[in-house]
Amino acid sequence: EDNTSPTKKQVTDHSVKVASHYNQLQEVGLAARSRSRIFYMRNFNNWLKSVLIGEMLEKVREAGSRRVSVLDLGCGKGGDLLKWRRGGIDHLVCADIAGVSVEQCQIRYEDMKRRSHYNDKIFSAEFITADCTKELLSERLNDPTVTFDICSCQFVYHYSFESEQKADMMLRNACELLKPGGFFIGTTPDAFELVKRLEASDSLSFGNDVFRVSFQSGAPYPLFGCQYHFSLEDVVNVPEFLVYFPLFEHMAKRYNMRLVLKQRFSEFFEEKVKKDHHRSLMMKMSALEPFPCERGGQQSTDSPGEYSHAKEH
Ligand code: SAM
Repeated sequence: EDNTSPTKKQVTDHSVKVASHYNQLQEVGLAARSRSRIFYMRNFNNWLKSVLIGEMLEKVREAGSRRVSVLDLGCGKGGDLLKWRRGGIDHLVCADIAGVSVEQCQIRYEDMKRRSHYNDKIFSAEFITADCTKELLSERLNDPTVTFDICSCQFVYHYSFESEQKADMMLRNACELLKPGGFFIGTTPDAFELVKRLEASDSLSFGNDVFRVSFQSGAPYPLFGCQYHFSLEDVVNVPEFLVYFPLFEHMAKRYNMRLVLKQRFSEFFEEKVKKDHHRSLMMKMSALEPFPCERGGQQSTDSPGEYSHAKEH
């Protein structure tokens, strides 16, 4: 399916807008990226995901999992492939609505595999292009017996909160193939923070010269389909939906999930940065903006608060 040229009928569907936005994003080389004003924020987000992924992998191994399988739900172009590789997992399923991104993700994986040595283990992988708010991934898997230790859904889940049906399907895809004791981990914007900033603003939008969040209307905020537009420099320009966390937590109970941890990025940072190995990774990844702000791009870009959470059943 060519997601880049939606038909008139499809244009009303936000999933199509999202797919076409991500499909059209160009791969930016590191040199250009490092010049980008969002360099540190991107690195900070990557550091945060690395720490979260690393700690989750430790947990599943402590719980006795020998062969670790992961579902990367909304994998994009494969920005987390290296994290999974460093974590020494055995199998990865990557799924995303944007076909071009999934192709790029697969090419990255094949490159990684080609460059690996015989004693340098690389996980097996499967790539699926699917609207995970509409299709059941379990029906698309090559191996229908596969179950996951971790489902990772990084900066994705908010796209599903357009309707209850879509949010539930995404959640079902995230949770139904988890092994007992498996984790659903993710990052998504903090709806409370977004609304707080909207209400503090004298218009329907807030932001700075790097990012902008624009709502179509103020209160009352519907539980589903509460749309806002998020733009970040020339990189992101896409409709998103508020995720009302208490409702999300309630919905997850249908899939036998219980909340283990929910933190804002700032809280996660404060906690993890105390550990030497996390701090040295942070330095290696250039995740801290040296001046004028000492606490990473999240602070300097004043971007919306986000949290990470982990769930298990
Ligand atoms: N997880 C990746 C990362 O952390 O680098 C990519 C995050 S990107 C901000 C959001 C991704 O969600 C995009 O690749 C987009 O195509 C994907 N996405 C949005 N809606 C989706 C849906 N309904 N089904 C599957 N993927 C979706």
